[in-house]
Amino acid sequence: MGIAVTRARKRLCVFCGASLGARPEYAEAAENLGRLMAKAQWGLVYGGTSIGLMGRIADAVLAGGGEAIGVLPSSLVEKGIAHPDLNDLLIVDSLAERKQRMFDLSGAFAALPGGFGTLDELSEMLAWAQLGYHQKPVALLNTGGYFDALLDFLRHAAGEGLLRESHLALLGIADDPETLLRLVSGGTTP
Ligand code: AMP
Repeated sequence: MGIAVTRARKRLCVFCGASLGARPEYAEAAENLGRLMAKAQWGLVYGGTSIGLMGRIADAVLAGGGEAIGVLPSSLVEKGIAHPDLNDLLIVDSLAERKQRMFDLSGAFAALPGGFGTLDELSEMLAWAQLGYHQKPVALLNTGGYFDALLDFLRHAAGEGLLRESHLALLGIADDPETLLRLVSGGTTP
């Protein structure tokens, strides 16, 4: 496989945990977002595995008849965690190439609860946006207040003069999947 199918009207790249997390509401939010995306014809671009919250959102998109495209480095394919039912699975050589492919395929970006992997991906999309490399919407789904501590830190960084308020404003914040989709709906279709 190598060329992405193009059934979806627009694509949302979702970064989220390779784990399920301690609270069932994280998986419920991932599944709700996946269902809504399929209904609203938002295709999913994501990390390509069947594990954790990543697997849950992909399953929900596919069950709703939506499009799911995974982008996975070859080193992770060898671990046997690739989702078996995706519309397309793009295999890349490195994490850097993976992020670029995810970016190119997507009209907007969203982060759900996750750890370093999710934070790395979210930060890079925001860092590219603040440098003017793109104008694609970036938002996070703050399920159960999961990101409250991060948001407090970002406000602290702005207060300390190390993050411009206008750059902080590049990050949309949603408490529920419906609001998240509304926030990213200004995105362009690649
Ligand atoms: P984390 O938030 O640390 O659980 O990492 C999840 C994010 O990083 C996802 O959005 C993936 O793109 C990437 N990632 C981290 N670990 C894996 C893995 N084992 N397989 C595939 N992608 C992963």
